Amino acid sequence: MPGRRPSAQAPGFPARAAPGAGSLSELDAVVPACRACPRLVEWREEAARVKRRAFRDWEYWARPVPGFGPADAPLAIVGLAPAAHGGNRTGRIFTGDPSGDALYAALFEIGLASQPRATHRDDGMALHGVRITAAVHCAPPANRPTTAERDTCRPWLARELELLGPTLRAIVVLGGFAWQALMPVLAGAGWRPPRPRPAFGHGTEALVSDPRGGRDVCLIGGYHPSRRNMFTRTLTPAMLHDVVRRGAEIAELPVRP
Ligand code: SF4
Repeated sequence: MPGRRPSAQAPGFPARAAPGAGSLSELDAVVPACRACPRLVEWREEAARVKRRAFRDWEYWARPVPGFGPADAPLAIVGLAPAAHGGNRTGRIFTGDPSGDALYAALFEIGLASQPRATHRDDGMALHGVRITAAVHCAPPANRPTTAERDTCRPWLARELELLGPTLRAIVVLGGFAWQALMPVLAGAGWRPPRPRPAFGHGTEALVSDPRGGRDVCLIGGYHPSRRNMFTRTLTPAMLHDVVRRGAEIAELPVRP
């Protein structure tokens, strides 16, 4: 019914609520209310009930995890989704798991994070010129959201990038899932992704133009700093450092040598 507030449980909630967010702080406030994906709602809350032994004293966040970083960031970093005992516990993206440890360490090394480690929402971490977010905002079982869940969540990321648009110059995309997810997001937010669609690879760069007259945005692919990728050395800390540095350079952010 016109004028009725959309239910947070409706599959169409993100599509109806995201465009109404007039700023990133408004978006960050509404995302955690979302319950549009029943399987993910159940999983995130189940993880919070069962907990991991090391975190048994924690009260888990157990809600969608919004992006983190300044609203005028020229650089964005897009990952897959929060981890059940990482972001789903701490309430901040990439915070509280080995992937986040590697990412924030890389950001700190080049001067884009105020601290080398992120541990919880009130740890004092500040990001400089970079905003971190994800293609899917709830922790999925086995770190694998379904295609339908990815698509349901898409409007949140589309609105986030749209709001970042005036300053956004580069996006570091961590992992093939986020790379695939991002192309329709960019199209939905008004950009023109390259055709044919470039295949994901570590170090791949692709330019996304803005037919509205805005500046181009450069995508930089990077392997996801998952436990498996780091353990097998598919991705080393130096490789992660380099891809983040490349994004910062393209975004014209001052970085530490
Ligand atoms: S994954 Fe996205 S759309 Fe689905 S419940 Fe979480 S925030 Fe909502």
